[in-house]
Amino acid sequence: MRCELDWIKGRARLFPEQVAVIDDDQGKSFTYEELNERAINLANYFLSQGIQKGDRIALIAPNHVSYFDFLFSCAKIGAIFVPLNWRLSKGEQEYVLGDSKPKLIGVHQHFAGDCEWVKFEYSVLDIHDNEYIRKLPILGLNSESMPQSLDEPLAMMYTGGTTGKPKGVVLSHNSIIWNALNTIVSWNLTNEDTTLTTLPMFHAGGLNALSVPLLMCGGKVILSSTFDPEKAVEDLLHYQCTIVLFVPTMYHMIVRTKSFAEASFENMKVFLSGGAPCPKAVYEAFAGKGLLFKEGYGLTEAGPNNFYIDPYEAKEKQGSVGKAMMFNEVRVVDDEGKDVQVNEVGELLLKGNHTFEYYWNKPKATSESIENGWFHTGDLARRDDDGYVYIVGRKKEMIITGGENVYPLEVEHWLEAHEGISEVAVVGIPDEKWGEIVTAFISLNQGFSLTKEELQEYSRKKLTRYKNPKHFHFLEELPKTHVGKIDKQALKKNFINQ
Ligand code: AMP
Repeated sequence: MRCELDWIKGRARLFPEQVAVIDDDQGKSFTYEELNERAINLANYFLSQGIQKGDRIALIAPNHVSYFDFLFSCAKIGAIFVPLNWRLSKGEQEYVLGDSKPKLIGVHQHFAGDCEWVKFEYSVLDIHDNEYIRKLPILGLNSESMPQSLDEPLAMMYTGGTTGKPKGVVLSHNSIIWNALNTIVSWNLTNEDTTLTTLPMFHAGGLNALSVPLLMCGGKVILSSTFDPEKAVEDLLHYQCTIVLFVPTMYHMIVRTKSFAEASFENMKVFLSGGAPCPKAVYEAFAGKGLLFKEGYGLTEAGPNNFYIDPYEAKEKQGSVGKAMMFNEVRVVDDEGKDVQVNEVGELLLKGNHTFEYYWNKPKATSESIENGWFHTGDLARRDDDGYVYIVGRKKEMIITGGENVYPLEVEHWLEAHEGISEVAVVGIPDEKWGEIVTAFISLNQGFSLTKEELQEYSRKKLTRYKNPKHFHFLEELPKTHVGKIDKQALKKNFINQ
C-alpha cells in the first residue's frame, strides 16, 4: 500500500507558527513551517545531485537541526538516512561507510577536520551552521513528496560496535511511525509537551525515542550538543520540559547536583531512563522528591521503545521496565523457544510494527535474530505474576562459574547499594578451573576508601557463595560506550590483555 508518509508536511499545516525545535547551543528556534521548508529545500538539492529512491545519505554532526532536515528530506524522496556515530575510530567509520555506501555525506563543521578524508572519497555537503540550507542553490522547488510504502526503509542506524562489526539496523517508515505512535499514546504526549535531547542523535535514544514522537504530535524538542548535569537540570527547568530520557550514567551525575536538590520539576510528567540498568540510588533520589521515574528498556532494533509502566504502579514495581506498550507483543522463552513460567529467566522476544526490517547486507544475522516475526533481543528477562518485565542482563554476559549461572545485574545491584560505591560492572573472566570467575570493577565515591576484603565481606552478606565476586578491581572511572553505557567489553579486554 502506498500512502502519504511525509508527516512533517502535515504537522506544518496544522501547527505552522508553533516552535518545533530549539537549538540551545545557538539560541535559535525553528517553527514547524520552517522545518518543512528546510526539508523541501534539502530534498530538492538531493534530487539535483542525482540522488534517487533507496540511495543512502549520511550525516555526521553533533546534536543539531540537520538531523531533522536529513530525516524529513529523506522521507520526502524515499532515500535512506544514515546518521553516523562520531565516536567511531577512522577504521570503524570506513567500515560503516563501505557497508552503507552513501551517495552523499553531510559533514558539520565541528567534524570537518576529523572527516577531511571523507571529502576525497565521497560527495560532501558542508554544514557550517543552522543556515547551511539557505546557501543551497534554489532549484525550481518541488514540494510534492514521493509516494512510498510503509515497509520501505527510511533510516539505517549502526549498532553493536562494541561486540563486533557494527550492523546497519534498517528502520522502515513503519518502525519509525509506530514507535512514535506507541510512545505518544503510552505517555499521552500532546503539542504541549517538551523534551530535552542531549543523548547523541546518531543513536536511537537521541533521535527516535522521544525527539521524533514529540515532533509527530506537535511538541517541542530542545537540542543540546553536550551534557553537563547542572546545565541539564537548568535546561529542564528553563524550557519547562515535561518528559526526558537520559542513560543511567547521566542520572547518576544529575542526582548529585545542587540544582537537582533544589528543583521541584513541576512541569515534568516522567523522567525516563534507558539503555542500561539503572542503579537503585537513582530511583530513590527521584522517589525522595515525589517524582515519577521510569526505567525503560529499548534497543535500536526495536525502534527503540517497548515498555510502559503505569505511573500508579511504578513505585511498587521498582526495577521493572513495565509491560509491553500498546500494539507490541512480548515473550520470554527458554533455549528451545518455549515460553518460560512466571518469574523464570529466559530470552526476551519482541514483536510489533515498531521493530526493524532487517540488518543491511547481513541476511544471516537477520535470519538468526528474527524468527516468525519475533525479534530475539539477546537479553534475559523474567515476568512477574502481574506481567511486569524485569531485565536480568545480556544473554552473552551471563557468567557460568563452576557450572552455576550468575546474572551480573543481580550482583551489581547489591554492590551499588553500598554507600561507598559510585559505579560497578561485573563480568566473567575466563579461568581454567572455574570456566569463568566473577569479577567486579568498582569506582568509589569521593572520600571513601574500601579494601577488597571489606567488599568481599559486604558481598557475602547478601549473595550466595558462587555469586560473590572473587576479584575486585578499583578504577577511578569505568570506561563508557558512545552513549554513556559502561563498556564491559573494554573492561574485560583490557584486563585480559594486562
Ligand atoms: P542499543 O541498541 O545501543 O540501544 O542497546 C540496546 C541494549 O541496551 C539492549 O539490548 C540491552 O542489553 C541494553 N538495555 C537497554 N535498556 C536496558 C535496561 N533498562 N536495563 C538493562 N539493559 C538495558
